[in-house]
Amino acid sequence: MYITSKKNSWRVKMGKNIGLIDVDSHSNFPNLALMKLSAWHKAKGDNVEFVQPLFGNYDLVYQSKVFTFTPDYKSEINTMNLIQGGSGYGMNNFLIPEIEHICPDYSLYNVSEAYGFLTRGCIRRCEWCIVPKKEGQLRQHADITEFLGDKKAAVLMDNNVLASEWGLKQIEKIINLGIKIDFNQGLDARLIANNPDIAELLSKVKWYKPLRMACDTLEQMQSIAKATELLRHFGTTPSNYFIYVLVKDISDALERVEFLRKLKLDPFAQPYRNFENNTVDKKAVCFSRWVNHKAIFNSVLWENYKDNIKSKSELGGI
Ligand code: SF4
Repeated sequence: MYITSKKNSWRVKMGKNIGLIDVDSHSNFPNLALMKLSAWHKAKGDNVEFVQPLFGNYDLVYQSKVFTFTPDYKSEINTMNLIQGGSGYGMNNFLIPEIEHICPDYSLYNVSEAYGFLTRGCIRRCEWCIVPKKEGQLRQHADITEFLGDKKAAVLMDNNVLASEWGLKQIEKIINLGIKIDFNQGLDARLIANNPDIAELLSKVKWYKPLRMACDTLEQMQSIAKATELLRHFGTTPSNYFIYVLVKDISDALERVEFLRKLKLDPFAQPYRNFENNTVDKKAVCFSRWVNHKAIFNSVLWENYKDNIKSKSELGGI
């Protein structure tokens, strides 16, 4: 991302004014690349700030976009040097290792927890997922201490940490450090269900948020049941379990959420997004709204909910 090779690398003089643009908006989730770029530039003595469209004048601006569906930044930018990066602008842009492996500047978003990856990539090739294309094979990425700073909790964005020996050793290290963590992309239930040692290891983790897994296909239901049974056996007591549910075919997704309901697990529905044409099916959005609004999900059956949707005709029937 941003600086891809020595040939293209930006040679910045001391004390430059650096502007940052978080196209996805910096209110919901901090942009990791921008936090690293900020740390790197500040270490060189540069001034770094989020771009102020009317008043700022910058030697260099980094514009980052994570999601393809986020509308692009439209305001005028006062700089001669603009570098765009992030998966919202394409799959082949990366930070150079010197920036990738720096401890992020958490003051940029004033966050109380650390953010990072222990591993990159995934062992699986799920057809709906961009991770295999974007990140490739599963591999070691960083030690937790590389990006922990002075934080006591960390949000880890690994895609399949449990399939990595390095990842499992890092979890052991995290347990010994006493840090709270959240694997916010979810853990692979199949790997927990097949290995009681992993379930036991996870039972020793201090969870920062509910333990997350994914139930994206009907085949994964038994793995979720077995993984949960093992985790509970070893005493894993996050305030709740949080299960991502991909919504593509409604009847398929309904079977999965009702299964999770019986297991007393908390489903979180995510409508499938077609990355080729950047569209989301309205029925899947409607179904996800039903699942994720817990007061409604716990009191109204899907059959009744869908029959009472005002805009049913717009949805082409459900
Ligand atoms: S297991 Fe998860 S990260 Fe890996 S390819 Fe499937 S959906 Fe993507």
